[in-house]
Amino acid sequence: MAKRKSEFELIHWLRSERVLPCRVRLGIGDDCAAVDLGPGETCLITTDTIVDGVHFRLDEHPADLVGRKAVGVSLSDIAAMAGRALAVVSAVAIPAECPVDLAERVCTGIAEACHEFGVDLVGGDVVGTSGPLTITTTALGGVCPERMLSRSGAKAGDSIMVTGDLGGSILGRHLNFIPRLREAGSLATRFSPHAMIDVSDGVSRDLSHVLSESGGLGAELESAAIPVSAAARQLATHTERPALWHALNDGEDFELLFTAAQPEAERIVAQWGDPTLVTVIGQVTPEPGLWLRDPEGWRSPLEIEGYEHLRP
Ligand SMILES: [Mg+2]
Repeated sequence: MAKRKSEFELIHWLRSERVLPCRVRLGIGDDCAAVDLGPGETCLITTDTIVDGVHFRLDEHPADLVGRKAVGVSLSDIAAMAGRALAVVSAVAIPAECPVDLAERVCTGIAEACHEFGVDLVGGDVVGTSGPLTITTTALGGVCPERMLSRSGAKAGDSIMVTGDLGGSILGRHLNFIPRLREAGSLATRFSPHAMIDVSDGVSRDLSHVLSESGGLGAELESAAIPVSAAARQLATHTERPALWHALNDGEDFELLFTAAQPEAERIVAQWGDPTLVTVIGQVTPEPGLWLRDPEGWRSPLEIEGYEHLRP
């Protein structure tokens, strides 16, 4: 007769057998958490905080665009999972010395962005603070679990693709970008991509997240294929860095980076038909490591230099 299980052995067995209801499809570590609501229905949840002096400058940037950014960053994470954005709650901490009209314009920007992006602003909080103006936005989305994309599905041999162009977002796009919800929906319903992330910390860093979450893969990018934005070129004229560096490492592009099997990537390019550009920028390799191949065929290591909060 089998030995009787102890309490903890029993709990462990129940969890391993998933006899206990386990609704959490994805926990910490992707662009959103994913919680199953019932058959065929998964809720996406993401939260982001933006802080004056770190993510925007209230003394320089239009206050309504600051509010808009707070909403956009969270909706970009819903897009990264190929979800539909449903609702937003937003908490704003306002410094005592902040003029009333400025605080109002931030809140108006939040409400207008929700309207523009087709989500409902359903709640939040307004508090005073002795610190900088801070906005925390939580977005809820819905996705059919079979269509949901995460960071972990990339396969060796996949083509790596991005929407739009890259780099130089500090010149304006980091405030007024449009989260790629339409493009993500089109990708997930019409095509079969394997993995996706939004470019918030720079292509090199965000790609490395996809590769590590997909089991320790690597990638080779083609320098000539990177869609370098006009802003990246403009920024490069007064930094010490090439425009390509900005395209590969600048954060807050809020474009989508995704992978698909090579024939599927070719089909996406051929049949895409959306005004937002999609470009194949490289391939996933079975061995770890990030490489950049120049037009002459020379390969050099690609350093991860994208933005990292709380870097020591
Ligand atoms: Mg993200």
